[in-house]
Amino acid sequence: MLPQRETFMNIDDKGVFYLVAILTILCIIAIVALYFYRWKRLSNKDECRIPLKSKQVIQTLVDILLGIRVFKNNIVSGLMHFLIFWGFLLLLLGTALLSIHEHIVPFIKGNFYIGFSFVLEIAGLMLLTGIIIAIFRRYVERLTRLERRPEDLVLPVWILVVVVTGFFVEAARISQTHPQWERWSFVGWMLAQTLNSEASLRLYPYLWWAHAIMSLGLLLFIPLSKFFHIIGAPISIYLQRLPRETHTEIQDLVFMDACMRCGRCVDICPCTNAGEPYSPRDFVQALMRSQWEESWPHRTLKLLSDSGQKEALLRLWHCTTCGACLEVCPVYGPTFRLVLRQREQAVEEGTLVPELLAQTLERLYKYENPWMASKREKLGWMEEQHKTKLIPQGKKEFELCYFVGCTTSVDARARSIASSFTRILGLCGIDYGLLGDKEPCCGDIAKRVGEVGLFMEKMDACQEIFERYQIDKIVTSSPHCYYTFKTEYTHGTSFNVWHYSIFLHKLLKDKALQFKNSMNLKVTYHDPCYLGRHSRIFDEPRTLITSIPGIKFCEMPHNKEYSLCCGGGGGRMWQGNELNGTERMSEIRAKEAIGTGAEVLVTACPLCLIMMEDAIKSLGHDKKIKVMDLNELVLEAIA
Ligand code: SF4
Ligand code: SF4
Repeated sequence: MLPQRETFMNIDDKGVFYLVAILTILCIIAIVALYFYRWKRLSNKDECRIPLKSKQVIQTLVDILLGIRVFKNNIVSGLMHFLIFWGFLLLLLGTALLSIHEHIVPFIKGNFYIGFSFVLEIAGLMLLTGIIIAIFRRYVERLTRLERRPEDLVLPVWILVVVVTGFFVEAARISQTHPQWERWSFVGWMLAQTLNSEASLRLYPYLWWAHAIMSLGLLLFIPLSKFFHIIGAPISIYLQRLPRETHTEIQDLVFMDACMRCGRCVDICPCTNAGEPYSPRDFVQALMRSQWEESWPHRTLKLLSDSGQKEALLRLWHCTTCGACLEVCPVYGPTFRLVLRQREQAVEEGTLVPELLAQTLERLYKYENPWMASKREKLGWMEEQHKTKLIPQGKKEFELCYFVGCTTSVDARARSIASSFTRILGLCGIDYGLLGDKEPCCGDIAKRVGEVGLFMEKMDACQEIFERYQIDKIVTSSPHCYYTFKTEYTHGTSFNVWHYSIFLHKLLKDKALQFKNSMNLKVTYHDPCYLGRHSRIFDEPRTLITSIPGIKFCEMPHNKEYSLCCGGGGGRMWQGNELNGTERMSEIRAKEAIGTGAEVLVTACPLCLIMMEDAIKSLGHDKKIKVMDLNELVLEAIA
C-alpha cells in the first residue's frame, strides 16, 4: 500500500470546517486591510507611493528568512525566533499543501508523503522548543527587558496547546492502524504506542476539532496582537532600508505597529540604564496608542496589551538621539526619529518645552550660539597666527575651511581641539582658512530639539556664507556639525565636508601625517554617537590611535555601534541635571573606561570631551585616567 493518509479521517462536517476557515481568513484580511487603510489615511498622499527597489526587497527577504537582525548580538533570542518562525511557517505551508492535495491534485503520497510527514514533525518540534525557550526567558529567567502582560502569556500558551493537540491528533490517527511508514512521524508514532486504539477512535473527532478551532483562532489573533509583527516587520524592514531621501511618515506608522515590545531598545537605551523614567519601547507604544485613538474610535486593534501609558509621551526630552535603539531594533525602528517629530510638535505648539531648553533656544536665536558667547568671545581661542587665516570675501585664498563650531570656540576645555588641530595642519603643511566671527552655528541643536524654523534659519545662514566666501571644502571639529552638514542640509552635496578624524586619517594614508614620537600609553576610545553610529565612522579614529608607536589600544565593553552615549547629545547638554536619573550617563561610560585600566580615554567630539572629563573628575579618577581629544593625542605624537 502506498504511504499516505486520509486528511479528514472520521470527520463528517468538512463543510463546517471550511466555512469557519474561510470566515477566519476573511476576518484576517479585513483586519490587515484596516492597518493599511490607517497608514494611508494618516500619511501624506504623495508619501504613500512607496518605490519598489529590488535590492532592498532581496535584503529584506534574506533578513526575514534568516532572522539576521534578531540574531545580531543575541544568539539565544535569534535561535528562539528562528525556531518559532520556521516551525510556524513550515506548519502553515504544510496545511496549505494538504488542502491542495485534498481538493485539487492528490500529490502527497509515497516517498513524498514520508518526507512531508518527517519535515512537519521537525517543524512541530521546532515550534515547541522555540515557545518553551520564550516562556523560560520571560517567566523563569525573567529578563528585565521583557514585559509580562496578559498577552505575553496567552500567546505562547495558545501556541503550545495548538502544537501539543496537533501531535495528539496525529497519534490518535496512527494508533488506529499503525502503518509502518508513520514511524517517520516519530513524535506521533511514539505517542501512539501509549494510546488505546478504541479510545483514540472515539476521541479522535473531538481532538481534531479542538486542534482545528484553536489553530484558526490563533491565526485570527495574529493581527490583533503583538504577533502582527509577522506582517508588519517585513514591511517596516523594507521601508526603513529605503534611501534616506525617501523617509516618510508612513515608515514611522508601520514601525510603531510592527513593534513587538521585545525590549531590546530598553536594554541598550542610555536613559533607561541611567535610571531615568524613560523607555523607548514605552514611548513607541504610547505614541502608537495615541495615534490609534485619534484615528480609530476603538483605540487600537491590539488586544490585551494596554501598554504605553500616556505619561511616556511626556518624557520625550530625555532621549539623547544617540541612535543606539536603532542598532538593535529587529524592525529597524528609529525611536529617536519619532521623538524628534514629537519635539517639533511640542516646540510648534509652545507646550511642554523644558525651561532650560527654551532658554537655550532663545540664546541661539539671539547670540547665534547656545552658550550666550559674544562674537569676541568666540574668537578667544585664536592666537596671533590665526588672524592671518581669516577667509576674505570674494577671493578664493584658501582651499580648505576649518569650521570650528560653537562649543569648540567657546568652552575653555574644548578650545584645545581647535588649537591642536590647527597646529597639526600647520605641521603637515596644510593650508586652511577660518571664518572667525563670521562663522555661524550649523543649527544642530535647533534640529535635535525640534526647532525646525530656527534650524532652517541657521542652515540658510551657513549656506549663504559658504557661497559668499566661496567655500567648498570644510573640515569640522564636531561630529554634530559634520553630521548636520552632511545629512541634514538640503544642499549638503554642494560642498565636501569631513570630520577632522577623517581628514587626519586621509593625511596619514597620504603620509602627510607621520608619527615621530613613541607614546608608552594604554589608550581606550569613546565613539561619539554622531560620528560613530550616525555617520558610521568607527575605524578612522582607531587607525590613527593605533598607528602611534608605543600605544597599547584597548576597547571598552561597549564599543563602535554599541558604544554608550555620554549624555550630551539631543540638547541634553543644555538641560542641566534636571532629567538625570539615579546615575549620570557620562559616569556609566566613565566607569567602563576606568575598568579597562587605560591611562588615556580618547574621544573626538567637544561635547563628549567635556562630559567625559567632568565624569572622570566627579568619580575621583582624574589622576589615573586622562581624557584627551584625538587631536591632542595626535599632536603629542608628532610635535
Ligand atoms: S522599538 Fe524595536 S527594539 Fe524597541 S521594543 Fe519595539 S521592536 Fe523591540
Ligand atoms: S536614541 Fe538613544 S536615548 Fe534615544 S531612545 Fe534611542 S537609545 Fe534611548
